[in-house]
Amino acid sequence: MQKTLVMKFGGTSVGSVDALISAIQIIRDAKKDWGRVVVVTSAMSGVTNLLLDSAASASQGKVDSLPATEATLREKHFAAADALIKDEKLREQTKAEINALILSLVDLCKAIAVLGEASPRAMDAVASIGERLSVRLLGAVVNHAGVQAKAIESTEFVVTNAHYQNAHPDFKATTEKTRKVLNPLMDEGIVPITTGFIGATPEGAITTLGRGGSDYSAAIIGAVLPADDVWIWTDVDGVMTTDPRIVKDAKTLPEITYSEIAELAYYGAKVLHPKTIRPVVDAGIGLRICNTFNPSHPGTRLIANAKTNGKVDGQVVKAVTAIRSQRLVTIEGRGMLGVPGVAARAFGAVASTKTSVPLITQASSEQSICFAVPSESAESVINALQAVFASEIEDEDIDRVWMTEDVSIITVVGVGMRHTPGVAGQVFTQLGNNKANVLAIAQGSSEVSISMVVAAVDTELAVKALHELIVK
Ligand code: ADP
Ligand code: ASP
Ligand code: MG
Repeated sequence: MQKTLVMKFGGTSVGSVDALISAIQIIRDAKKDWGRVVVVTSAMSGVTNLLLDSAASASQGKVDSLPATEATLREKHFAAADALIKDEKLREQTKAEINALILSLVDLCKAIAVLGEASPRAMDAVASIGERLSVRLLGAVVNHAGVQAKAIESTEFVVTNAHYQNAHPDFKATTEKTRKVLNPLMDEGIVPITTGFIGATPEGAITTLGRGGSDYSAAIIGAVLPADDVWIWTDVDGVMTTDPRIVKDAKTLPEITYSEIAELAYYGAKVLHPKTIRPVVDAGIGLRICNTFNPSHPGTRLIANAKTNGKVDGQVVKAVTAIRSQRLVTIEGRGMLGVPGVAARAFGAVASTKTSVPLITQASSEQSICFAVPSESAESVINALQAVFASEIEDEDIDRVWMTEDVSIITVVGVGMRHTPGVAGQVFTQLGNNKANVLAIAQGSSEVSISMVVAAVDTELAVKALHELIVK
């Protein structure tokens, strides 16, 4: 029985001619080694943002930038098709398909402008165009390079609920459809090349799985087939000790445990979408993160349990992450102790604004509740809290509901922290020595991470200081 590999290529990995050349070679090699290969692609880098920006402008009645957007999209995709598809018929056919999709974007944006509103469903229809463009391009260039491949939209087999912009897959329906669509192709030696990020409701409306969701797509497809391995091809050498954009000498972690990667992804390491982990772990599938621009590098492997108590070179802290653009919201008042169900009502109010809370912390006294929310939702959260506690505020049981300026959540991660006393002390000393002021603290119940909230201006300082605990 041949083994099955699902490979996902991120935005930069299909974002230029050079990247595509590398991706083609990677797919060719994988086909030789594995036999059964499924490729999942993101939109070319920058495309999803561009699409969402045009929909947002259209919703305010602005369509003057549409011709420029059309031109950019054509240029990006056509340049790659021109460079990589010598066969004129295939090239022109591919470009015609790409052009038709770009025209559909223009129609959608014009319709949004007329309505003066972009519903979540319309936003998904627009956002989906990026992957639907890139899948045609990648399908054509891989075929042209002599590897038998077929481009298919994942809307044909990834079935989701109608929670637009953050849809949840129906695993049962997806399993049935994915096997039915993909297996016959692989049986014939064809590489299915499909869209990440998108799915469809049972009625066929296009949905998306949330920003950065192509990683999740690969995990879903890998889990339902099931595949033996899922490889995430990106633009860095795997999961690193921190974001290499902040610290240049960040190092690749050759191995990372389930719980560590879950914390890292949740607390801002963009290299892997947090939802990717569960399907592969549940299905017992291998996961590897590797670099399209350095394919011989082994990258990072996901492992079940850490060796040697989770220590790497004697260090328990393995990685540092940051989530920016958060606000700390505090509800405080001396009368709060007597008010029943404050926390339940507070988080109920937050939930009613559809905001998720990345961190809850015990502030200096028990007479307050403090938590982080994304900056863009902070105002609606404050309004909801003021409404729900209106009578307590009037009675002065609650003195005030307030928020900070922008802050960042900095998280240190490592399974070894569970068995090692004094890590928190080490972390806070390091921050103190570097004059990074900690506004709040939270420790995950799994004891695999400690999070600290710092002012936005201290983000890089804090990450760099904590990274020195790992790479000296
Ligand atoms: P893709 O388009 O391939 O999905 P992303 O931009 O979503 O790529 O994620 C890769 C980026 O994640 C890297 O370029 C890097 O800047 C960032 N990143 C943040 N934290 C980490 C980390 N701990 N390890 C590796 N990369 C990280
Ligand atoms: N293209 C989508 C995004 O930019 C999905 C992804 O790249 O994973 O969010
Ligand atoms: Mg990504």
